[in-house]
Amino acid sequence: MSTLVIAELQSGELSDATLKAISAANQLSQQTELLLWGAQVAALADGMSTLPVAKIRIMESASLEHGLAESLAPALVTLAREYSYLLAGASTFAKDLLPRVAALLDVGMLSDVVAFEDDDVFVRPMYAGNAMARVKSHDDIRVLTVRGSAFALPEAATAAPTVEMVAADITALVSQNQLSSFVGEQVTESERPELASAKVVVSGGRGLQSAEQFGLVEQLADHLGAAVGASRAAVDAGFIGNDFQVGQTGKIVAPDLYIALGISGAIQHIAGMKDAKVVVAVNKDPEAPIFDVADYGLVGDLFDVVPQLIEKLPGK
Ligand code: FAD
Repeated sequence: MSTLVIAELQSGELSDATLKAISAANQLSQQTELLLWGAQVAALADGMSTLPVAKIRIMESASLEHGLAESLAPALVTLAREYSYLLAGASTFAKDLLPRVAALLDVGMLSDVVAFEDDDVFVRPMYAGNAMARVKSHDDIRVLTVRGSAFALPEAATAAPTVEMVAADITALVSQNQLSSFVGEQVTESERPELASAKVVVSGGRGLQSAEQFGLVEQLADHLGAAVGASRAAVDAGFIGNDFQVGQTGKIVAPDLYIALGISGAIQHIAGMKDAKVVVAVNKDPEAPIFDVADYGLVGDLFDVVPQLIEKLPGK
């Protein structure tokens, strides 16, 4: 049984979600291969000599410059027949691509898998993480996304993977996409760590009251070298962009430390941060449900407490 992991690059490097997907793949099968795709990616394989995969397959095409799922999917369908598992980290990219591939292969889609019980039994959260489903797949090819928060980064390998170019006829399929074309992209530039993989996250909720006052969350985050997160109420109120939303319909995070400021702790928010190792909550309502999941809770007005915290904490 072998597994193909679909790579996702960030600034020319494999994303954390991909690295954790490789860890997951190595639990599933003896033979893990990585598909590195893009307009010009072959040279990147040179820097991947300690990656714990047996083979890196390279698919290069100008049509793949912007990673449109409609371009990549038909080529993946052809490659998929060589594998038992097709796997990627549960990122926005993979959530666009892999259900499409599963549909084209006429197999089920296993999303947000957090553990494997057997070759064909997969564990995944449902009802906003309140129940864990054990899903048995009867398909020959299993297409799945795995949650990064459930898998560790892989150990370096001692033997370098082999590198192979994907056959030209398969690569040619990616240029036949008539369904979509690239228009433009707006990238959020930030010096802060990436929310989904940050070790420390400071999140703000509706209690911040305005976009200006949300700056207090960013101030504390910068003091700690942390990523910034937000509740959906804070996003809906326009305090910050929706890239920063944590929760059932936002990002799933599992940092060492999660600080929730002015967040009530709705079930949909908890679904996105309950795997944090230590949770600190500041809320003026002693009955706020966030205190049920907090390791350290401070009942108080965040506008009094946070400036004092910033003053007392050793800065980064
Ligand atoms: P509120 O619930 O209004 O809480 C604000 C808190 O701030 C209160 O507890 C209050 O006591 C406290 N506060 C106010 N002023 C201060 C002060 N000065 N100092 C200290 N504390 C103060 N939500 C998410 O977060 N993420 C999701 O992904 C998500 N997905 C959803 C999906 C669905 C299908 C649905 C129905 C809802 C979803 N929600 C999600 C919304 C969720 O139900 C809540 O409405 C939301 O999380 C509330 O955000 P909040 O805690 O910031 O606001």
